[in-house]
Amino acid sequence: MEMIGHGGKEIVEKVMSKDAAIKRVAELKAAKAKTLDVRLQLATEIIDIAYGFFSPLEGFMTKADVEAVCNNMTLADGKTVWSIPIVYDISSEELEKSGIKQYDEVLLSYTGNPFAIFDITDIFTLDTKEVAMKVYGTTEDKHPGVKRTYQYQDKFLGGKITLLNPPKINEPFTRFWLTPKQMRERFKEKGWEMIINHQTRNVPHTGHEWLMKGAYLGAYGSMMVDKPRGGVLVNAIIGSKRPGDYIDEAIILCQEAQGTNGYFREDTFLTTCSLWDMRYAGPREAIFHACLRTNLGCTHHMFGRDHAGVGTYYDPYDAHRIFNKVPEGSLRIKPIFNLDWWFCPVCDEVTYMGFCGHKDKKASFSGTLIRSIIQDGVKPPRRIFRPEVFDMIMECAEKYGFGNAFVTEDYLKNRQPVFTIGQLK
Ligand SMILES: [Zn+2]
Repeated sequence: MEMIGHGGKEIVEKVMSKDAAIKRVAELKAAKAKTLDVRLQLATEIIDIAYGFFSPLEGFMTKADVEAVCNNMTLADGKTVWSIPIVYDISSEELEKSGIKQYDEVLLSYTGNPFAIFDITDIFTLDTKEVAMKVYGTTEDKHPGVKRTYQYQDKFLGGKITLLNPPKINEPFTRFWLTPKQMRERFKEKGWEMIINHQTRNVPHTGHEWLMKGAYLGAYGSMMVDKPRGGVLVNAIIGSKRPGDYIDEAIILCQEAQGTNGYFREDTFLTTCSLWDMRYAGPREAIFHACLRTNLGCTHHMFGRDHAGVGTYYDPYDAHRIFNKVPEGSLRIKPIFNLDWWFCPVCDEVTYMGFCGHKDKKASFSGTLIRSIIQDGVKPPRRIFRPEVFDMIMECAEKYGFGNAFVTEDYLKNRQPVFTIGQLK
């Protein structure tokens, strides 16, 4: 099966077999290899790198890569489009204490268990203000991506990663987490040759449902009845959360509920999740999502209004326009640009900016409106929320959200982790 990812390179899993990993860890320990314990943020990206979600990246970026990403939106090769730095940060104190030098082979651990090997090829510093300005278009730390950038420690390590100890993905995410290879195998089983990705961090109201259906028709509509089939892939982003976001469990289970309750046929719909901490980089994040979903084997990617934006930092359609700025042929995925969808009481249906002319009558699916519906817990009209989806939100709030469908401090502190790294034995 073709496993060509972003940049035209074969997707390579850098995951050692268990026996080889046990042996390697023993050797490294005997050789008194240097060690570092990584935090969740880094562990997540190590998993992504090792399974090819970030292909062609095989490790954390060197300074040359970060500079090229910031200045030209490519990797250091000057050709491969890449929009967001993927970096390993460390404090000067920790670096000094560890004694790590360039070309060291470092044993990384997570939550006390052996996790990965890190071949250090570059140790460097960055001007985080400059990175923020170039990637996010602002230096204000109110922007969550900028805040994350400013929170980096003062030194950075670049080099390749090999995973020693695969993650255990915990319930209810287990069946939704598919590696790029597994994802492509699943598409093959389904007979899909055209895969339209829907990026989400929401529970779906009917506006989202129609967005997906519109994209499906847009991409699939011209195909003949006896031609190969295609489908919509919901790929939910699971990662660091902010208070007020939907809880991860509700996002994934409510997306799935659209399929299990027949609003999409099983053979045209699939719900999955990938691990990524949203950076809210708007247009640059849209490019990143295109690369990520190319690696998952998707052929089309939906980009909505204010895709991956935050506050008023980006024009709602900047994330569409940026695709005109990348060289033709540098992305192996076709963007589908979604305009606004809303409920119109005159049309008496969910309709689309391109159709409905009752401009002042529309009831848009504003976040505030949807939020107040959910917080009231009173079942809304089925034109706004499918009843089974709404029931699932309430169920998830009870089961996973400590009574709330939105992230609270309680949830952040007490939720079960999405993945764990066990003992290597
Ligand atoms: Zn109308």
